[in-house]
Amino acid sequence: MKNWYSKSLDEIESELSTDLKHGLTTAEVEKRRAKYGPNELIERGLKSPWKILLEQLTEIMVVILIISAVISILLHEVTDAIVILIIVVLNALLGFTQEYRAERAMAALKKMAAPKVKVHRDGHLIEISSRELVPGDVIQLDAGDAVPADCRLIEAVNLRVQEAVLTGESEPVEKNTEVIKGENIPVADQHNMVFMGTVTTYGRGSAVVVQTGMQTELGRIADMIQGVGQEATPLQKRLEQLGKGLAVAALVIVGIVFALGVLRGEPIRIMFQTAISMAVAAVPEGLPAVVTIALALGAQRMLQRRALIRKLPAVETLGSVTTICSDKTGTLTENRMTVTVVDVAGNRIDFLEEVQNYSPTIPERRKVEPVLVEHPAVALLLVGGTLCNDAVIEVNESARGGFVSVGDPTEGALVIAGARAGLWKDELEKALPRVAELPFDSERKRMTTVHRLNQDELPQILKTAERVLSSEIWQPYISITKGAVDSLLEVCNRVWVEDRSVPLDAEWRRRIEKANEEMAMKGMRVLGVAFRLCPPEQVEGCEKPQEENLIFIGMVGMIDPARPEVKDAVATAKSAGVRPIMITGDHPLTALHIARELGITTPDGEAITGQQLANMSLEELKKALDHVSVFARVSPEHKLKIVQALQEKGEIVAMTGDGVNDAPALKKADIGVAMGITGTDVSKEAADMVLLDDNFATIVAAIEEGRRIYDNIRKFIKYTLTSNAGEIWVMLAGPFLGMPLPLTPIQILWVNLVTDGLPGLALTVEPAERDAMKRKPFPPKENVFARGMARDILWIGLWMGLVSLAAGLWALNTGRTETWQTMVFTTLTLAQMGNVLATRSNRYSLFQIGLFSNKSLLGAVLLTFALQMAVVYVPFLQNVFNTRALPAEDLLVSFGLSTLVFIAVEIFKGVQRRKESI
Ligand code: ATP
Repeated sequence: MKNWYSKSLDEIESELSTDLKHGLTTAEVEKRRAKYGPNELIERGLKSPWKILLEQLTEIMVVILIISAVISILLHEVTDAIVILIIVVLNALLGFTQEYRAERAMAALKKMAAPKVKVHRDGHLIEISSRELVPGDVIQLDAGDAVPADCRLIEAVNLRVQEAVLTGESEPVEKNTEVIKGENIPVADQHNMVFMGTVTTYGRGSAVVVQTGMQTELGRIADMIQGVGQEATPLQKRLEQLGKGLAVAALVIVGIVFALGVLRGEPIRIMFQTAISMAVAAVPEGLPAVVTIALALGAQRMLQRRALIRKLPAVETLGSVTTICSDKTGTLTENRMTVTVVDVAGNRIDFLEEVQNYSPTIPERRKVEPVLVEHPAVALLLVGGTLCNDAVIEVNESARGGFVSVGDPTEGALVIAGARAGLWKDELEKALPRVAELPFDSERKRMTTVHRLNQDELPQILKTAERVLSSEIWQPYISITKGAVDSLLEVCNRVWVEDRSVPLDAEWRRRIEKANEEMAMKGMRVLGVAFRLCPPEQVEGCEKPQEENLIFIGMVGMIDPARPEVKDAVATAKSAGVRPIMITGDHPLTALHIARELGITTPDGEAITGQQLANMSLEELKKALDHVSVFARVSPEHKLKIVQALQEKGEIVAMTGDGVNDAPALKKADIGVAMGITGTDVSKEAADMVLLDDNFATIVAAIEEGRRIYDNIRKFIKYTLTSNAGEIWVMLAGPFLGMPLPLTPIQILWVNLVTDGLPGLALTVEPAERDAMKRKPFPPKENVFARGMARDILWIGLWMGLVSLAAGLWALNTGRTETWQTMVFTTLTLAQMGNVLATRSNRYSLFQIGLFSNKSLLGAVLLTFALQMAVVYVPFLQNVFNTRALPAEDLLVSFGLSTLVFIAVEIFKGVQRRKESI
């Protein structure tokens, strides 16, 4: 390991052959990528195909079958043994392909979730996947970013990093750029380095990558942190339990059948095989596996709808969500902020009208807009907004106006507003270099930067504002603060009025607040800007700038239009019994305006502010939640309280968040939802689901998908268990109706593993029920068998058994002693096909949903039918399966009887529908 911490930045720059200012060139990156490979830890968690196959073959049921095959061989029943083994292989292959697909789907999801990183390349700041980093890359780190590789810091501004993964220390450590002398300094003390896998919690910085991938500190201990398995979902756990219960019940039944058979004088060998086949038939061994497959493939479908699932149980919980708590900015709105109004000391200026000449192509640096010359205070306001700002302008020919902003959209709007008026950030920063800062956080809702103010080097435009500045006592530094107007007023004591500052008295306060409210009422986000001139002793050698005794300059109002698709999504959510709640850091009036527009609250709906919230007890909040759907000016900690109150009311909560401090609320919520575009890595790490497009409508789409998946899993369970019940009834009741062994062991295996399997799987891709988003959510703790499912399994299973036996009885009574068993066998298989078609919808008939709306299932049914016909009519298979060719009449009777299951289930659903509509 190299002692990167003990080298100077110049040494590092030459050793890594990079440019700490402009970053690497694309050509150089290509070369280094070929040399160092992608920046990722080698994944050991993924199961190899062999392991999946081995798991399939060691499943308990398969083991039973293999043992019975061995016994068959010992008994010289070689054909039986071969058939059993073929069935085992077919079954294992089916399981294998499904699970393999599910594994790959999850692996692909994991890859998608890899964090992004801001990197300087070819002199531009761009965003790439952290996998693409190479040593020598120069990156930018902001609060909430995951550190993507081991790096030496070039710049650190109040930078704090949480390094628990490496050091076990959960308190974030303060970083700086000073060279450390010494040998073998432990990671925890390398204050000028940041390491892969840690996260920045505060401040910002830039750094040069020194090690990537497995060469990083994390890479060296990667083995230790890998292999954290995917936890079982609640449904999987419940089904596993159920499986065990059913297995015991099945063994008892099998024991009975075995004993009865032996007592009747059947050969023990046959009874033994029958018992084993029945055990295989009765135990729903595939349930948990199918649930995993359905969930994993469901997660893949959600991805197509722009929702990335990070934790599998989320797929299941999504369908039960009753409340969505959503941020406003960027989720309900577009996060395309545009400054439209500027307000200085009672003078409101329509900014767009004043500054209209967008340049159609690449922006040229035009001269300053007249409005700034006329109103020096507006100039100062825009200069303040541009300087106290971390966003940058990038040239982009395809964008309107020829440039776009990179960084926070609120800040971007300010930089663009400045540029439109002729104030360019880079020029201003050259003249007024930043010397200190206090970053924005959503608790204070303010941000401050301090700049050196050299009277001789002021840019032309500030000369007009010089009057403003020099009417104060001239000082070498200027401190600029911008933020939410209410929070800014807390730290101001003067206000700028007509070229001088006057005390901020009650009257001025009232006027400013009124102007703020007027803008907010129109749905605008309002930011105030204030400044203060500072003597050297308040800046030089001071740790942080103080936010106090500021002079309020004015406000900017920016619009951020509601996303057009959200209004419909809100309506869909409501009709699905899911209540949307808005939680925002913005002004209550801004929030209410948007909430009304989107239908989240009624025209007379109220908002609760963070301050009110802080003073409420949990009980009061629970009561308020009955009628309030808008929370404004809240800090992240309030979100936690809201989730808690909702959960205590029995709600299942999905909560969105993007900042570092949102992580606890995201973890507490039933579904934590992070923003893919604007979200910090910390919030993504804490979330169950990431919205790739930051869009509220995507949450609603994911809920719909979640409901569909849950419905389909229930349909699968229902179908499998009714089929199993049908088989058991046949075997149990047959002997009492004069059919000692209605089905041979091989026939049972065939019905259970082949004809049952494919159509069952195809049920998991059934499209969503028509009314999936028109019904209330199912409580997540509700038993899977609720809503009549247990009842259906019992009666349909019994009916299926009786119908199959009826075929046998008819055959025996009409002297068909040769074909009766084949008729029972065929009727049972066909009845299952009818059942699977009728199970496709819980409510609607097959004709209402359309025969062709699940083509996989139709294909599976046709294939199964063809296979069954082959088993009955192909001579070679007849030997194996102990079947006889059925004459047309017999086949028709079997077919006719089997449709009785389909007809009965459809009639039952019809009666239910009628009852519900009355
Ligand atoms: P939402 O919760 O709806 O997504 P938000 O997360 O954007 O809103 P915050 O970022 O907490 O809310 O912003 C709250 C307030 O802080 C804003 O109304 C604005 O007045 C102010 N603000 C936002 N961004 C900045 C910034 N970069 N600098 C200074 N003040 C800001």
